[in-house]
Formats: sequence, C-alpha cells, structure tokens
Amino acid sequence: MAAPNALILMTLTIDTSSPDSRARLRPEALPEKTSLIGLSRQELGEALASVGVPERQVRMRVRQLWHWLYVRGVSDFSQMFNISKELRGALEEHFTVARPEIVEEQVSEDGTRKWLLRFPPRGAGRPVEVETVYIPEEGRGTLCISSQVGCTLTCTFCHTGTQRMVRNLTAGEILDQLLVARDRLGDFPDANTPDGAIVPADGRKVTNIVMMGMGEPLYNFENVKQALLIASDGEGLSLSKRRITLSTSGVVPEIYRTGEEIGVMLAISLHAVRDELRDELVPINKKYPLKELLDACRAYPGLSNARRITFEYVMLKGVNDSLEDARELVRLLRGIPAKINLIPFNPWPGSSYECSDWEQIEEFADLVNRAGYASPIRTPRGRDILAACGQLKSQSERLKRTERLKLEAMMIAGHGE
Ligand code: SAH
Ligand code: SF4
Repeated sequence: MAAPNALILMTLTIDTSSPDSRARLRPEALPEKTSLIGLSRQELGEALASVGVPERQVRMRVRQLWHWLYVRGVSDFSQMFNISKELRGALEEHFTVARPEIVEEQVSEDGTRKWLLRFPPRGAGRPVEVETVYIPEEGRGTLCISSQVGCTLTCTFCHTGTQRMVRNLTAGEILDQLLVARDRLGDFPDANTPDGAIVPADGRKVTNIVMMGMGEPLYNFENVKQALLIASDGEGLSLSKRRITLSTSGVVPEIYRTGEEIGVMLAISLHAVRDELRDELVPINKKYPLKELLDACRAYPGLSNARRITFEYVMLKGVNDSLEDARELVRLLRGIPAKINLIPFNPWPGSSYECSDWEQIEEFADLVNRAGYASPIRTPRGRDILAACGQLKSQSERLKRTERLKLEAMMIAGHGE
C-alpha cells in the first residue's frame, strides 16, 4: 500500500442558508421539540394521539409517518403531502423530524467521508458532537456509527478511552447518523419522485453498518437496540441484520441479550488471549474474563460458517503480536465460527504503544489463516482525515493543531502502510 504522502483534504462547509440548499440539510432541530426519529411504532402512535389524532386513525398515520421518515427520508413535515395540512401543523408545533447540524464534512482521497454532527442539548446538558465515518469499498459501503459521546471504559490503546464520558446517544441520534449519511450520499429517493419510488437495495451507497464508532454500544443497550431494530425494519430502512455488526469490548450479559433481542452480527474486541494481558488492555476483562466471554460467544444464536463472529485484534508491537499469541488465539477460538480482523494500531499523541511491524502482522495472519480462519488485515482508511478506529472524538476533545500535525507526520513516516 502506498503511503498517503500527498494529503488531499477536502473540507466542505455546508451553506445551509443558501436558498437552494435542500430542506433536509437545514440544521433546525430545536431542543425543546421532541424528535420523532427513533421512536418505536407504539411511541409514534402515542405522540400522534397526544396532538389529537383520533384513535381509529393512529395506525394509519403511524404507517404514513414511518414511510416518510424511513423510506423517503424526509426531514420536514411540509413534504409529507398525504398528511393533512392541519395535522402537519400540529406535528410541527410539538415535534421535529429535522436532521442534526452538520458541522463539518470531510472527504478523504480514498473516498472515505467523515461527518461531524452536532446534536442539541438534552435537559440541562450542552450540545454534543459526534463523528460518523463512511467507508466505500468494492461492492459495498460501510457506515461506522457511534453509540456514546466518550466511553466509560478505559482500554489503554484507544483514544476514546482517554476521553470523559459525556452521555449516551438516544435511539434517534444513533439513527440520525445513518439518515445524514444517506442524505449526503444520495441514498434516499428525490423528494419529487412519485410516491412509492424507493432506491433499490442493490443501488445503495450505505449497505452495511458497524457499531464501531465512539462508545461501548452494550452500555447503551436499550437505545442501540431500538435504533438497530428501526434500521433493519423491512417497511423502512430495510438493512439486513446480517449487514449490521455490533462491536463490543465484552459486556457479557448484554451479549446474550444482543443475540436474543437484536439478532445482528457480533464483533468482539478481543486484543489479547491471556487474562493477565487482557485485564490491562481491555479492563472490562476483570469483570468478564475470557472464559465467560467466549462462553457467551459460543452461545450466540444462529452461528454458522456463513454467520461468523468477528474477533478484532489490534496489533501492538511487542505486546500481543507474537506467534505464540497467534497459536493461543487459534486454540482459544476452536469450535466458534470466527473471522479474525487484525487491526494495525492507530497511534495517537500520548499513546504508549507502537504498531507491530508489517512483517510481524503478516506472519501472525499467516499462522491464523493456516489454522482455517479468515484473518483479513484491516486496511487503514481515511487516515488523511483521521477517520480511523480509536480516533473518533468529540469536538471538545479535538487535538490542538500542533498535535494534529505531529500525528499526521507520525502516520506518514512510521506507519505508512
Ligand atoms: N467500544 C466498542 C466499539 C468501538 S471501538 C469496542 O470496543 O468494541 C471499535 C474498534 O476499534 C474496537 O475493536 C477497538 O478496540 C478498536 N480500536 C480502538 N482504538 C484503536 C486504535 N488506536 N487502533 C486500532 N484499533 C483501535
Ligand atoms: Fe470504549 Fe471500545 Fe475504546 Fe474500549 S475500545 S475505550 S470500549 S470505545
């Protein structure tokens, strides 16, 4: 792979005041209005009833709204033309379906896109900012979504782990990340196309979702569950559950619940094959050690060769990257339909690790491969816009300019792939 020696960084600032900017780009979420995005059908029905929709009409209205929000992707009540003007007015007065503000959109030279989104304050809190990353690949496009602002866990190699936990994202805010990406990538049908026209599933830009942004999704279980059930709802966004992957550091009780109540694909941030080292790298291991974690994996429903668990393994030089570690990894995963994702460590200023040498990563991968496991080495994407794992951050935690330049230089020099 070539080092990204010519950094091409394109920052688009979206002019939301221009008259021709489309309604769905306008940042107009008002904090005092409840968003209808992310509500279950039942909650949507209750919201409609609260503004006077008669009970016998509620189901029909819920169906209409669901279609506008999740098939058509509209972000303005005025576009819902089969809903009476009166009702649209009442909805407008009490609720919002507007998108969050897009503070910044960056496009990497390799096509990766990163959005910085600002969500309005909740209660007495302050607005929060969240990054969402889109990674186009041959035949698919993956959106990396955040579940929390910050993280309560303190994995030692992860930049998010050094940040203060600010709050959980709501189901609506988790879904908003997908809706904004689909807006910006042109994945929703144009507002003017006849009713019922939808983008065919095979022409979509966002084909896969990974819950691998900021935060530990299983520490925000209810909201993540609700968002993913809406994302996979066949009458709406219609993403197949096999194309949604939830990554966890290993919150064992919620792994069981994920299998039973959400049914998406599972990824485990393993990173070490011995409890002693994992206690240090992924401290939640002290609470749920390897044996309990792997038992939960074995019990995950629907596992097969076609539906494997992904084990993520960050390659840290001299820490977890020996061939002995690779052999132990193979032994540990015996009997679990698994794929092993080797992730080159992404350095950040102040981190005390180095990425393993490329030859070491390849030898490690070969050994794991020979044992019959697919072990792709995850190619770092969007490095010129700092879009990689462990580097998503909130605005309040942004690197100072000098730190940022240092980090970019480090990545180009030391880990230039
Ligand atoms: N909290 C969840 C999901 C978010 S992290 C989890 O831990 O699984 C997504 C993936 O990126 C995890 O496997 C995480 O361990 C990995 N990661 C974090 N920081 C990294 C870094 N600096 N370099 C490479 N991978 C990193
Ligand atoms: Fe949190 Fe995941 Fe980072 Fe660990 S790796 S600190 S669980 S975001």
